[in-house]
Amino acid sequence: MKTSTPCPGCKKPITIEEFEDFSSPFTMKCPHCRARLKETKMTTWLLLLAVVIVPLLIYLGITIKGFLSGHFSIVEKVPTMIVFIAFCYPVYALYQAYNAVIIFNKGKLQLKNPQ
Ligand SMILES: [Zn+2]
Repeated sequence: MKTSTPCPGCKKPITIEEFEDFSSPFTMKCPHCRARLKETKMTTWLLLLAVVIVPLLIYLGITIKGFLSGHFSIVEKVPTMIVFIAFCYPVYALYQAYNAVIIFNKGKLQLKNPQ
């Protein structure tokens, strides 16, 4: 497994930790030269994966809320979104980290707006 990958702009290494800090594959920026980056090899696959993962997460949130409401009546008054964030955020964070690792190891970085 790689531990860093060179920025296509300034050629300085971007580490896996820096990759995981990107909030999405569409907002990647080189931490050194601030160049906007895009990934051209894996993003389509990751988007397809998101199409599967996101409804699963929503379903999971609704199921958890239903389950908790059955046991604690107070949960019924909590907006589903809050329950969703509390339970699904860790899953989502894992999924994001997984995305970062995939792009980092298998992806191909390019500059978004080559000058
Ligand atoms: Zn750079």
